Amino acid sequence: MAAHLEDAAHYPGGQADVVARPRTEADVAAVLTDGRPVLAVGAQSSLTGGATPAGGIVLASSRLTTIEPPDAHHVRVGAGVVLGTLLEDLATHGLDFPPVPTYLGATVGGIIATNAAGAATFKYGTTREWVEGLTVVLAGGDVLDITRGAHVLDDSGTFVVEGPAGSRVVPVPTYVMPDVVKRSAGYHAAPGMDLVDLFIGAEGTLGVIVSAVLRLQPLRAGLCYALVPVSDEPRALALVADLREASRQTWQSHDAAGIDVAAIEHMDDRSLQILREDGADRKYEVSWPASAGLLLLIQLELPLLTQEDAYEQISSALDDDGPDTPLARFCRVLDHHGVLDDAELALPGDRKRAEQLLGVREAVPAGVNARVGRAKRDLDGRIAKTAADMVVPFEKFGEMMDIYRAGFARRGLDVATWGHVSDGNVHPNVLPRSYEDVEAGKAAILEFGVEVARLGGCPLAEHGVGRHPVKQALLRQLYGDEGIEQMRRVKQALDPQGLLAPGVLFST
Ligand SMILES: Cc1cc2nc3c(=O)[nH]c(=O)nc-3n(C[C@H](O)[C@H](O)[C@H](O)COP(=O)(O)OP(=O)(O)OC[C@H]3O[C@@H](n4cnc5c(N)ncnc54)[C@H](O)[C@@H]3O)c2cc1C
Repeated sequence: MAAHLEDAAHYPGGQADVVARPRTEADVAAVLTDGRPVLAVGAQSSLTGGATPAGGIVLASSRLTTIEPPDAHHVRVGAGVVLGTLLEDLATHGLDFPPVPTYLGATVGGIIATNAAGAATFKYGTTREWVEGLTVVLAGGDVLDITRGAHVLDDSGTFVVEGPAGSRVVPVPTYVMPDVVKRSAGYHAAPGMDLVDLFIGAEGTLGVIVSAVLRLQPLRAGLCYALVPVSDEPRALALVADLREASRQTWQSHDAAGIDVAAIEHMDDRSLQILREDGADRKYEVSWPASAGLLLLIQLELPLLTQEDAYEQISSALDDDGPDTPLARFCRVLDHHGVLDDAELALPGDRKRAEQLLGVREAVPAGVNARVGRAKRDLDGRIAKTAADMVVPFEKFGEMMDIYRAGFARRGLDVATWGHVSDGNVHPNVLPRSYEDVEAGKAAILEFGVEVARLGGCPLAEHGVGRHPVKQALLRQLYGDEGIEQMRRVKQALDPQGLLAPGVLFST
């Protein structure tokens, strides 16, 4: 059982009576009639303590691993299927599920329960947009098979959920969700919403997901990565804005020569220091000029082309009669912003280089987590990861970063920030030198939550709320006491005894 008592947030105090590993929907239903609290878990990569049990039964999805043969557009998969395995399986059919989060060890059930979002949310949206149907077992054991489009909220503002145990009237909350590209902030609620959406992002508090029907698309052929050092944030944001705009135009016009960017990642100057201190630059054989204030990692989608053609397009991109291709246009945009010479490209098919560039990006959170772990071990056992996961409309990104910098500086905190700039979503992480830094970091994050909401953003973007007291406080700040009460009424309707994931999202 020990393996299941902690998630990636290393939230303290995990405990359970028993671990159940059901193989079938009927097994899951049997667990949910036991009468004890049940916490469904996938890979336990939660960064919020949401997958840390607090007694009762841990329902591990590790045996719900069926992948049915896909058709051209959909696949039905078990909740315990690991994303890396799913992507490999789909690739053999020439298919892809593009909204995956950075961590490919997460499970299908976990990403649906948290409405996870990946780097490529800018182009592909979040998990929510790719879920066409769910099989969910409710508290008490009723099985709900729901398909998108079959149960849409009407003017009554309630869903009526029928099952052998009777019908449940579920009052949908009336709060207005922030209008941003990603949100993992309590129950989804909107006029005309689909019942499927109520369970997506509910963090296991309303039912256990047994399987899902996911939407698919053809495998992307020509993925190219560019690691681009930029001197400062305003210049970086100008480049990101141009690439976002060019990509949007391409998606609208279907221009075969248009720029098509799926994701732009961001690593700030403190993150670069960490990479250097840890030798990640040497390990992954990358370098950037001393003048670089931050790095961007751009994921560009290209039509299939040979490496020779790609080199030819790059070398002649700036010529007066240079080619009019997506890659040449991309080079011209980089040149226009004065960053082409220092950019490092991993061309389609150059898997090794792509893995190195992605490795640099992943080395930032790894380096930060290692530092937090050392501080906890050497300085104070109460030290814990202290990080924000907020999103604002991209146009407000610079303002949000100024607010973060001022709030952290006022408290004398050392902070590294990285994340998904193309979505307006980054993760500032405190590098604590004492427990006081952790407390000061929490206060800063609560303050930022108010500011981010004022900017039209959401203080809980992709990791969810879980059991984390700061995240639960951010949720309450966002929707107020009345919003939390409305969520409680949803929970009460579907899980009257409060057995599913008690203490997740809000206290019970
Ligand atoms: C290195 C790293 C990188 C990460 N990158 C990202 C990222 O880019 N984007 C992002 O969004 N997140 C990211 N995360 C967070 C985490 O991977 C996601 O939250 C993921 O969706 C969790 O999946 P999981 O299978 O590990 O679920 P778990 O951690 O096991 O569970 C997460 C929540 O889902 C519920 N749940 C799990 N399975 C079920 C089920 N079958 N039915 C009902 N509820 C269920 C749990 O009760 C819990 O509340 C990252 C985490 C790590 C460690």
